Amino acid sequence: MTGTVNEFEMAQRQFDHVAKLLNLDPQIAEVLRWPMREYTFRIPVRMDDGSLRVFQGFRVQHNDARGPNKGGIRFHPAETLDMVRALATWMTWKCAVADIPLGGSKGGVIVDPATLSTTEKERLCRGWVQNMWKNIGPRQDVPAPDVGTTPQMMGWMMDEYSKLVGQYTPGVITGKPLGGGGSLGRTEATGYGVIYTVREAMKHLKMDSKKTVAAMQGFGNVTRYAAIGFIEMLGGKVACVSCWDRHDKCAYTYSKDGGIDPHFLLTITDEYGTIDKAKASKAGYTVEDGDAWIAKEADVLMPGALSGQINADNVKKISKRVKIVAEGANGPTTPEADEYFKKNGIFDIPDFLCNAGGVTCSYFESVQNDMNFYWTKEEVLEKLDTKMTQAFHAVLEMSEKEKVYMRDAAYMVAIDRVVRAMQLRGWV
Ligand code: NAD
Repeated sequence: MTGTVNEFEMAQRQFDHVAKLLNLDPQIAEVLRWPMREYTFRIPVRMDDGSLRVFQGFRVQHNDARGPNKGGIRFHPAETLDMVRALATWMTWKCAVADIPLGGSKGGVIVDPATLSTTEKERLCRGWVQNMWKNIGPRQDVPAPDVGTTPQMMGWMMDEYSKLVGQYTPGVITGKPLGGGGSLGRTEATGYGVIYTVREAMKHLKMDSKKTVAAMQGFGNVTRYAAIGFIEMLGGKVACVSCWDRHDKCAYTYSKDGGIDPHFLLTITDEYGTIDKAKASKAGYTVEDGDAWIAKEADVLMPGALSGQINADNVKKISKRVKIVAEGANGPTTPEADEYFKKNGIFDIPDFLCNAGGVTCSYFESVQNDMNFYWTKEEVLEKLDTKMTQAFHAVLEMSEKEKVYMRDAAYMVAIDRVVRAMQLRGWV
């Protein structure tokens, strides 16, 4: 839960709103309002100093009518069951809107991975799989990296699963390292996917992308590639990115000429997306309060860190210049902020459309694992662009046809596809 926002209540409120618009049968709606299965478990881990720590783990499987469940595993100190429920629900809508044959799930552990040594992290990852291996698998539920987890961790998890089932099973998990069953392009996929949707939104709004400025929250896997893509694919400028320095303080950085250099910042950023403040300052970057990103003079705002970040308390700080909000993170906008966007004509690219590039590329990874034949990075990114562009236009078309907000349109496209799959399978 972030502040006073309960993400699962938010996910249910968004769903209820669209279920009403769709005139959805209340009995079918009841199936979709809640996850189908939830697992909570304790993971004892032997620490390097010989002591034992017990971590709380979660896995929530929301709906697998369209195919095996799919969703990341987050390692975060503020993880909650409701957070995981919300994210699992959004995964169902995300896979449906991207039109990939997968359902929705999410997992997590309450932990700050930066406080663990490499061997402790490995034991925690293996412990997570020891709890869940009977309920995951290439045809059941396929995890992936997310906040606080890395390709190396996915490699350990895949290895543990393969040992437990007695056969090499790369398809149990995606986001694996290259050479260990991973796909080229996966690292960039979510951030670049965000940019493909922003590019289409700019065409729709008749904006000249070369004259645009973006302000972003986060500098992790999503935002760093979104920043690179915004500059290199669209020709725009990125005024700022922000991060969390692990002391509950957020750093915000931008260079004197108004544009950050993501390639430089990456050289001073750790594996968790924390920029080295001292080195950034020395290089001429200004470090501000972490929330300053939201009030920047920008055409595009990109919340790419956590949920609930644009809310009733801060939405009015958004500059009048902002035309597009591209939701790189999951659930970054609260319903109150949505109302503000609607009133002020801000074009929202909703999370489960905007950041669907990651899961789409994960799906490509599974397909390549099944074929045991791997595509080039260019092939992967070209296929990704095609899928993201099609998804964007399916939602835009629905939004224009039904005269509804983009988030509602994305829900309408997704719910319709999931309900049809449930009906085809005779569930409802
Ligand atoms: P990450 O762990 O790589 O990076 C997170 C970034 O957010 C870091 O830079 C961190 O410093 C920053 N951050 C954390 N707390 C913050 C705070 N309070 N204020 C400002 N910055 C803060 O995570 P990621 O993979 O980039 O994921 C970011 C978001 O995107 C999450 O909501 C995640 O669920 C979503 N997402 C990720 C993927 C993916 O493929 N990685 C796909 C879809 C959605």
